[in-house]
Amino acid sequence: QAKAGDDAVRAYVPAMGQMFKRRFELVTQFRHALDSGQVTVHYQPKVALPSREVVGVEALVRWRHPEYGPLDPDEFVPAVEATGLVDALTGFVMECSLVRVRQWLDRGLRLSAAVNLSVRNLADETFPDRVADALRRHDVPPRLLTFELTESGVMADPERSLPVLRRLHALGVVLAVDDFGTGYSSLAYLRQLPVDEVKIDKSFVLGMGTDLGDMAVVRSIVELGHSLGLTVVAEGVEDDAAREQLVGMGCDIAQGYLISRPLAEDRFEAWLRARTIR
Ligand code: C2E
Ligand code: CA
Ligand code: CA
Ligand code: CA
Repeated sequence: QAKAGDDAVRAYVPAMGQMFKRRFELVTQFRHALDSGQVTVHYQPKVALPSREVVGVEALVRWRHPEYGPLDPDEFVPAVEATGLVDALTGFVMECSLVRVRQWLDRGLRLSAAVNLSVRNLADETFPDRVADALRRHDVPPRLLTFELTESGVMADPERSLPVLRRLHALGVVLAVDDFGTGYSSLAYLRQLPVDEVKIDKSFVLGMGTDLGDMAVVRSIVELGHSLGLTVVAEGVEDDAAREQLVGMGCDIAQGYLISRPLAEDRFEAWLRARTIR
């Protein structure tokens, strides 16, 4: 007997098949994509508030697929994260970032780079050693490397991730909680993590101009972060009004389209030169 919704299911199942097929394809092609230059890193600046001084970048991966064109990380990162290949992804982004940080230092610029971690990195007890080795090889001070982790990533398996986080922290790298406010964030939980920074999720920052609730969330995260001695970063800063509100709240660092979109290496360098010429 046919039930309402059967049509929807009939349409959905092949679409799902396509989705799995593409996911599978992307995962099998990713190694080659990394080795053949299809995968690159874009850099998005972070600036201090209220001075507008550039303090660092977030490193964001991009994939120019020969058949599908530019792919959004939201499409392939979750697929890659479900496999052991995420080690190679994180390693690649970290290497590219440390090369940049070293070159900036050689030009007298002290900028930090932030790399996004996935759950698997946090469950890998060899990861901190690889980080220490990379910092040594590139001769970069640990304070100039930040790792961004989501609370769901940490809370997926705290027994495994906490020791890894503690070892990363002991190296002296900066640890930031990303997308803060979207999960089951609580004060108690934040206090127990060895973190230095919170990043307010962009959904709240984007909503601040029109939604008093979002504004209240942003304000309370700034206050909570400061009361715990953390640096507070706002992402998704798209206009001057948002920037002014964040300055008023005492937020430390801003990132978003108002300052710049994520840029390919050469375009970021041009942006930086134009910004830092006196
Ligand atoms: P995320 O870590 O929350 O990164 C911030 C996202 O917000 C980036 O999207 C960035 O382009 C976007 N964004 C920045 N400023 C603004 C703004 O003013 N307005 C709006 N609407 N959006 C803004 P992107 O580059 O598409 O990355 C999406 C997600 O993919 C990231 O979210 C992160 O979770 C993941 N990702 C990106 N690169 C990596 C990586 O190298 N490794 C891992 N594990 N995940 C990555
Ligand atoms: Ca991030
Ligand atoms: Ca984020
Ligand atoms: Ca995100």
